[in-house]
Amino acid sequence: MSKFQLMTKDQEDLVAMVHDFMGKKVDPYVDQWDRESHCPMEEVRELMDLGFWGIDVPEEYGGAGLDVTTIMYIRQAMAYHDAGFTNTFSAQTFGWKPVLLAGTEEQKKYWGQRLAEGAFWAMCITEPQSGSDAGNCKTKAVKDGDEYVITGGKTFITNGGVSDLYTVTCSTDPSKGKHGISLFIVERDRPGVSVGKHEDKMGIRSSNTTDVVFDEVRVPADHMIGAEGTGFKTLMKMLSRTRPTGVAPAVGVAQRALDLAIEYSRTRLSFGQPIGKLEGIQFKLADMEMKLQCCQSQLAYSAALVDKGIYDTLVGSCTKCFVSEAVLDICLQAQQIYGGYGYSKEYPLEKLVRDARKQYVNVLRVQATTLPIAVASFVTMVQFLMQGYLPSLYDSLGIYIPLIVVNCIILGRAEAYASKNPVLPSAFDGLGMGLGFTCAITILGAVRELIGAGTILSTGSSALVTIPESVYTPASIFILAPGAFFVLAMCIAIMNKIKAKHGMEPAQVPDYCSKDGSCDSCANTMCGGKAFAEEKKQA
Ligand SMILES: Cc1cc2nc3c(=O)[nH]c(=O)nc-3n(C[C@H](O)[C@H](O)[C@H](O)COP(=O)(O)OP(=O)(O)OC[C@H]3O[C@@H](n4cnc5c(N)ncnc54)[C@H](O)[C@@H]3O)c2cc1C
Repeated sequence: MSKFQLMTKDQEDLVAMVHDFMGKKVDPYVDQWDRESHCPMEEVRELMDLGFWGIDVPEEYGGAGLDVTTIMYIRQAMAYHDAGFTNTFSAQTFGWKPVLLAGTEEQKKYWGQRLAEGAFWAMCITEPQSGSDAGNCKTKAVKDGDEYVITGGKTFITNGGVSDLYTVTCSTDPSKGKHGISLFIVERDRPGVSVGKHEDKMGIRSSNTTDVVFDEVRVPADHMIGAEGTGFKTLMKMLSRTRPTGVAPAVGVAQRALDLAIEYSRTRLSFGQPIGKLEGIQFKLADMEMKLQCCQSQLAYSAALVDKGIYDTLVGSCTKCFVSEAVLDICLQAQQIYGGYGYSKEYPLEKLVRDARKQYVNVLRVQATTLPIAVASFVTMVQFLMQGYLPSLYDSLGIYIPLIVVNCIILGRAEAYASKNPVLPSAFDGLGMGLGFTCAITILGAVRELIGAGTILSTGSSALVTIPESVYTPASIFILAPGAFFVLAMCIAIMNKIKAKHGMEPAQVPDYCSKDGSCDSCANTMCGGKAFAEEKKQA
């Protein structure tokens, strides 16, 4: 097991305590819990009693108030023994996080105390029809006097069946889409709350995952977190702060897989010698160690940033994505080193691979959607060329800008509906692109005029100037298109700078963009470059 050189003495002691507890109280039962999909609440509570209740709840609100780096080390250490157990432990305060971000002082004090006293608090976002697309929320909360009445069903809820409290995303105004989502605290013992189907999962089977049903559940209005309609934004912020610790257990799983592989390679004989002496196996182990070290370093860096109050979506997303891929790879290589025994339930690798897979499936790989823009631009370009003319600057302003705007919006929407991708160009972006085209056409026209290939700059509204046959060739399309796209890109970049300066949303981002880079669902390459990493990740 690696030693983390940057750990403080306190962190080392806590980690040692966790290993000690897990070794004695968890290791002997891990296989049985995995087989039976049993969530060991008694043991989790016992560990919590050692000082971990409300692990990330600030001390002023009654919690343990540990920093993200320490929690990250603790989760790695715990998952070294069982990732499912770690999931149950970690999710104790999952539902609390929005309260810390958007709740009132009163709420923080009251509900923070509940956690410190031993409540489990789950987060209910996912619904049968929407996981990644968390804004598509069908659970409703309807105001009735001083109360809200909540009706709907959530699925895949970690600790759904063992929690005392739930934070629930509800639509308070369906006409506003994600801007109509609000967050509510719901106690499990309220009439109308019930726990539904238990998810029979592939991995982390000792973690409880269930449906939770809300059937006309009445909650007081003061159970709402933040103002009405701000729930989605709070959620996105929360996710950007939880990524580093979120993937920490996966690294614990990988460390276990590597340790087991090393041990096995020393004892397993093949062709008269331990397989660890074979160069092929040594290469594998070195590769696993390298990847593990990168995961640990990246995790430590991400956690340190959050501890400093720097919520860098790019770093968080890269961490989540890289770690989830590397961990699965390490576990698969370890399984390979175990040969046939790696495939047997009698040996530990089979379970570790299943556990590692969990982190990976939860990583959304959102593609950067430049497609609507590219298609829209291309269509307009073809429109120009098919008609055999180019417009003057004057014509561009009057005709082509609206045309391009409409193209962008129609194609953007169509692509979004087809792929469920929320990244859309706005009318503003369309305008920017129109301006880009205008500039591109003007510049290209000037060049053509210079080289004597034809005049396209004119002053009248009827001045649609014919391109000479000699220039209107496929070759000219190849010359025109990249030039136009380049100018377009410049224009979009300029529009984004203007937007950023005035606090407007960057181009092509969903309209729930948090503007502070904390958005979890956006793959927008224009978002200060931050969400580019999301191309390979998920929210
Ligand atoms: C063990 C476990 C515990 C969980 N715990 C909780 C919990 O406590 N609370 C909670 O609310 N939810 C929880 N979830 C649900 C989890 O958040 C969702 O599974 C996740 O958001 C993905 O949603 P989905 O399963 O509906 O997949 P979908 O959103 O339907 O995605 C299906 C596939 O399409 C891809 N995809 C989707 N959108 C895009 C896009 N725009 N671009 C490219 N690809 C895309 C996805 O990457 C995925 O591969 C849990 C899930 C698991 C497995």
